[in-house]
Amino acid sequence: MSRMTPDYAELARVDRSNHLHPKTNPVTYQRDGGTMIVGGQGVYLTDSEGNRLLDGVAGLANVNVGYGHPQLIEAIHCQLNELSYFHTFTGFSNPASAALTERLRDRLPATINTFYYVASGSEAIDTAAKIASFYWRRRGQHGKRKFIAFRRGYHGNTVFASALTGMPEYHDQFALPLDDIIWVDPPFQYEQNPGMDEAAFSRLASNRIREAIEAAGPDTVAGLFAEPMLASGGGIIPPKSFWPEVRRICDALGVLLIFDEVITGFGRLGEWLGETAFGVTGDICAMAKGISSAYIPMGAVGLSDRVADVLMNANKYFMHGFSATGHPVAAAATLANIEIIESEGLLAATRTGPGLEWRNGLDGLSRHDIVGDIRRLGFVGVLHLDPAKTGRSGPSKTAPAARFSALCRDRGLIVRGGEEIVLMSPPLCLSASEAAEMIGILDDALTAFASDPD
Ligand code: PLP
Repeated sequence: MSRMTPDYAELARVDRSNHLHPKTNPVTYQRDGGTMIVGGQGVYLTDSEGNRLLDGVAGLANVNVGYGHPQLIEAIHCQLNELSYFHTFTGFSNPASAALTERLRDRLPATINTFYYVASGSEAIDTAAKIASFYWRRRGQHGKRKFIAFRRGYHGNTVFASALTGMPEYHDQFALPLDDIIWVDPPFQYEQNPGMDEAAFSRLASNRIREAIEAAGPDTVAGLFAEPMLASGGGIIPPKSFWPEVRRICDALGVLLIFDEVITGFGRLGEWLGETAFGVTGDICAMAKGISSAYIPMGAVGLSDRVADVLMNANKYFMHGFSATGHPVAAAATLANIEIIESEGLLAATRTGPGLEWRNGLDGLSRHDIVGDIRRLGFVGVLHLDPAKTGRSGPSKTAPAARFSALCRDRGLIVRGGEEIVLMSPPLCLSASEAAEMIGILDDALTAFASDPD
């Protein structure tokens, strides 16, 4: 089948004038335009001008097995030929989603055996919240309707997922936040108590959760939502004993522990679920992104047996469902994705050759004065720039991390820059030489920043 080369310039004109993009300033986009990505292979993207870019973020931390993987493409193709779609409402199912349930049951922690399928991380979060609410109602505890969430946590953009997101900019344009969310500071030692002993800091941070639940009244709190490590909020890695302590607090006070594994799952922290890396299992987990490496939108909610027992014995409709719930093509893509992660040893990749190259390379960047902190776990890493050391002569229009990202981009590397934090989450298939290339560009961009900080 031959295809005509599209007229990218014309397409870009339409896109600028009539496509409202997410998290994009529409005025500057219409004026200046952006970048058309036209191809992807492995860890590299190609834009419409023929530039090759190393994707240091794996899309949005979701293309875990890399772009253009033939096995995944083939699995999607086969499923499309077999059954392109049918829903899973009112007693219907399909072999792909049934096979996926079996596979997830085998791979995830032993207590998580029941699954609900969705098409995105935000849907997984909303579904997890509804499951938690329904669980307590079925148990006659109707007063349990509040959720604890971390300031700086990110949980997505449906109304409830935005409400759980602890960043004011996600509330300001809308009728948010909601009253039933209780905010707690995340366990962020670098900013909160840098000199403190780690175990003492862990107790302090986990006690904040206990105090928040006790202040609200345990009878009013349904669950705690949290990423095992906060990714978009700044690459915040809790101390080792934090999650086991929080697990005990939740058990003692009767609060469900709900992990948002949307970024941390499917190999990003070297395990199927990030919570395993911290030695705990939640009562509910929300998964998406890397579950299908974003070849097809997909998400899932995992229910522990304790929660599943209550929901699976409700002798009535569970009144929650999306047209794409249990989509056979998304399920087939997810199955293939899991096979690739296993056959290519990608869970181990965060600890072996490429992972070590990346990790050691990142650590080496601390020799640049401008770097205040480096935090990394598995294939998530941040450079936390120190604004006091950027050498800027005055207030600049661009945040330091945004300026640094632009310098990386000029050198062929995509990273994500917030105010002071540069976030990276490369595909798990990154090779040792690609890791070295990435570190080389970061090194060069840091040197360039130091000599021209404004
Ligand atoms: N949870 C976390 C931790 C995320 O990082 C994201 C997206 O970035 C979401 C939830 C929402 O996922 P989606 O964008 O697929 O709705």
